[in-house]
Amino acid sequence: MADNANYFAGLDIGGTTVKTVLVDVRGEVAGEMIEVRSHVKDGYEATFGQLESALDQLTAAIGVTRDAVKGIGMDVPAPSCDGVIWGRANLAEDWVGTNIRDRLSERLGGTPIYMTNDGNAAALGEYAVRRKHIGGLLLVAPGTGLGGGLVLPGGRAYEGANGLALEVGHISSPFREDDGELPQCSCGKLGCLEAWVSLVALRRRIGLELAKPEHDDHPLNDGSPVEEKAFRLRDFAQEGDELANFLFQQQARILGYGIADLVRVFDPGLVVLGGGLAETEGFRDTYLDWMKEGFEERAWAMYSHSPIDPEKITTRFEWATGGDSAAALGVAFSAREMFR
Ligand SMILES: [Zn+2]
Repeated sequence: MADNANYFAGLDIGGTTVKTVLVDVRGEVAGEMIEVRSHVKDGYEATFGQLESALDQLTAAIGVTRDAVKGIGMDVPAPSCDGVIWGRANLAEDWVGTNIRDRLSERLGGTPIYMTNDGNAAALGEYAVRRKHIGGLLLVAPGTGLGGGLVLPGGRAYEGANGLALEVGHISSPFREDDGELPQCSCGKLGCLEAWVSLVALRRRIGLELAKPEHDDHPLNDGSPVEEKAFRLRDFAQEGDELANFLFQQQARILGYGIADLVRVFDPGLVVLGGGLAETEGFRDTYLDWMKEGFEERAWAMYSHSPIDPEKITTRFEWATGGDSAAALGVAFSAREMFR
């Protein structure tokens, strides 16, 4: 390795795009993020080719060569443990069961790699952008599904014995549909939190509500596909539509229950909410208030009303601020901690 090996790369491998960043040994971001379309469905070798070319571009942009990269952090959109992916999710079949971390490290001439899943990487990213924060951080991110991650005080992600920790979408939720049944989750089980708090859940709920006679005249009952209705729902909510607000309020309250249980287990001090809602200035404040109502119904009062020092104890809620590059930054910072 070259003497100038003072940089750490973050490689965020998603189903849609691959985002890559470089940080230096002091923890400063070096150069710009490079984002390319993901080829994960074409197999891991195709993605390795992309990663190599991104590393070349990242280093060339700051006037060094790939030798300058001392360590790499990488995240994958699937549960993984010790470099091996557990389930295929959005990936081609050859990713599963292969030690992706070691294969890539060999291909790059032995550069050490830290590998984790996308939820942990996003949590690490939110931790990295809060430089003054020294406690724990729980990330909960409603998106297509419901992702999460936990960063322990000091900055390491808690991954669990099998790399399967913090699958927050699949904890049990006590809520039932109008007919008394528990909703079906995409994982095959019944009554998961994700079956209430995700884009997939929202589509189901919209369908069920619009089928009721009292919503016959609702403007969303226009024959458009339910995927499209789900995307339009936020605009309806912002314009004060009663049904849209009911659906988001229900989702937020149920999320609050789930977060209360997670806080009861981990007591992280800081809960960061990610996902698409983080980008909706205005509406997200209303959503957060609804979420807190559910949280306070379910959580022990001590988490929300500490008699000691409300700034330090209790549970604080913040929206994600790391943006698009959060996961890539998160794993780059972890690589810096581990390999510098
Ligand atoms: Zn589930």
